[in-house]
Amino acid sequence: MIDERTPIYLDHHSTTPCDPRVVERMLPFFTETFGNPASISHQHGRKAGTALEEARSSVADFLGVRSNEVFFTAGATEANNIAVFGVLSDPSEHVITSEIEHKSILAPVARLEADGFEVTRIRPDSEGFISPDELAQAIRPSTRLVSIMAANGEIGTLQPLAELAAVCRERKVLFHTDATQAVGKIPVDLSEIECDLLSLSAHKLYGPKGIGALIVRRGIRITSPLVGGGQEKNVRPGTVNVPGVVGLAAALELRAVEMSDEAPRLTEMRNNLWDRLARIEGASIHGPRGLRLPGNLNASFERVEAEPLMHSLRRFSISSGSACSSGDREPSHVLRAIGLSEERAMGSIRIGLGKSTTTADLEMLAEDLEHSVSRLREISAVR
Ligand code: PMP
Repeated sequence: MIDERTPIYLDHHSTTPCDPRVVERMLPFFTETFGNPASISHQHGRKAGTALEEARSSVADFLGVRSNEVFFTAGATEANNIAVFGVLSDPSEHVITSEIEHKSILAPVARLEADGFEVTRIRPDSEGFISPDELAQAIRPSTRLVSIMAANGEIGTLQPLAELAAVCRERKVLFHTDATQAVGKIPVDLSEIECDLLSLSAHKLYGPKGIGALIVRRGIRITSPLVGGGQEKNVRPGTVNVPGVVGLAAALELRAVEMSDEAPRLTEMRNNLWDRLARIEGASIHGPRGLRLPGNLNASFERVEAEPLMHSLRRFSISSGSACSSGDREPSHVLRAIGLSEERAMGSIRIGLGKSTTTADLEMLAEDLEHSVSRLREISAVR
């Protein structure tokens, strides 16, 4: 129930509400069609198995791949881990990633590095872009895998995915993209991009939490770090989360219809907010204006720290840096990588618009922000 004190949700990069139409589609799979799809000896299992394969084919259609290239996982963290550990096996192999990846890529890569693998982390430019030329230069004869995210969840940068993938394909290096923030928000069509592996997560696209997928294009061998009952062709063993899978497919089906109208609406609202916030004295907006996730804005205000600012903006649920890295009170690695000072990075807030966001919400936010920034500066001036 939304009451007066429920803040307005502006943190859609952290997660999104599950669409009620998605929940509706999932419900029968908890109670009626509850079978284990691996139990093919009886009707309960076979019915669940049919739903699983229908969902697989729906996810495949959305991304322009074949059904047998879709492997369901418990989300993008798991998909990223399986991609990195599943492709790389020999410490003589070299892996390339970027400095602005999500921790679910950076941490597996750091573990490989500790085990003796050679690692290159490409630094982005000041807007967060990774240059295809720099990637080409970083590739060595021993390079086995390149992992570059499609869209950044903090500053919204959309990478030149097709070009980065083409550089890798030309040099016969595997290309993985963490497309968690991109899928369902901007078109991602693997029939046009030479991408070998892709990770996604349902809860970022109005689907349920705890379900995602790893796309593995034909002919690529994955030796999963997980072992067990052999489900998902051993890529992600474990009983498949059938309601989740049905929810992921339903969410993608809705995004296929609704995404193209939503993106320009969010972009326009975001740009209007951008223009207004940019007029606040000492404001900086981080990340690119174009080639950016439609609903993303990231800003900081000279002499204002994020924590008291967010406290005074408590009519809104917004975040400082990415949800996954907040809490550990470190400046965002993404903002540091694009060249922000520690102070600026610590002062940055992230606003994530979504399908429920209205112009009135953002008007209220802009007013609160203008007021809060000047009040916090007054307080710090008298201290
Ligand atoms: N990659 C990116 C780019 C993300 O934004 C997130 C979620 N913050 C993840 C991976 C992890 O996704 P999940 O929550 O499904 O594990």
